[in-house]
Amino acid sequence: MQFGAHVSSAGGIDTAIDRIEAIGGDCVQVFTQSPRMWRPTNHKPEAIERFKSRRAEAQIGGVVCHALYLCNLGSADSAIYEKSIAAMSATVDAAVAIEADGVIFHVGSHLGAGLDEAFERVIEALRRILERCTGPTYLLMENSAGAGGTIGRSLEELARLSDGLGHPERLGLCLDSCHLYASGYDVTDLDAVDALVGRVDELIGVDRLRALHVNDSKTPLGSNRDRHANILEGELGEGLGAFLSHPSFQQLSAYLEVEGTGDGPNADELRKVRELHDRWAEKRR
Ligand SMILES: [Zn+2]
Ligand SMILES: [Zn+2]
Repeated sequence: MQFGAHVSSAGGIDTAIDRIEAIGGDCVQVFTQSPRMWRPTNHKPEAIERFKSRRAEAQIGGVVCHALYLCNLGSADSAIYEKSIAAMSATVDAAVAIEADGVIFHVGSHLGAGLDEAFERVIEALRRILERCTGPTYLLMENSAGAGGTIGRSLEELARLSDGLGHPERLGLCLDSCHLYASGYDVTDLDAVDALVGRVDELIGVDRLRALHVNDSKTPLGSNRDRHANILEGELGEGLGAFLSHPSFQQLSAYLEVEGTGDGPNADELRKVRELHDRWAEKRR
């Protein structure tokens, strides 16, 4: 398993490689623009070239881009809806340019109206965005913690979207351990993790799982609240190892999205997660 993290790309997308190398990550997640603004960043060709050459030099494996938090592919407000599609398209274009393996996105929210009401809009948006995915770049749906009307709180909801699109080759999945736990999947329990992976395979195909977000949770099982905790410091604690050590996950890249000491994932968080993984891999043997 590759362990890496979400890092800042302030000062140019290429600087993300320097940051992940500095903390000893194997793989890296970045925003391709400020996540709280609609306006896309215009990446200089030199920055894109340096990103790719530094990635090779630093031997960074997986690279994923995280879409903007503002995007809501289920929005009934046509202005927000079109802005969301445009912003995600810009993220995909930047991801393709840096040869990222995927764009990870939160589907959005039906704002309480139910997925039925938003379903067609989400499908249409994804159909349009998927067209832009070329080269190594896949679109990866992330499961949600289930807060408010967020779409993707269960594997069944994500599978409905995949089914609705006819299982396009470019559509994959990213599972977040904190969101799973918050939405009621007890990922600290070996049998529950087995059942989860079995269900992923049944509904979507385990081969569609292309990345993991590895975070502990500040809030309890089924709380539907999205609050990441540092490794070993939240409700999952040592139990996060049950998730990490699942045999089906061992070829994946895993990205930390934790606060560290305030400035994001650091070398210490990476050390803790690798040790936790190895303890549980040993236990399973
Ligand atoms: Zn996540
Ligand atoms: Zn989260």
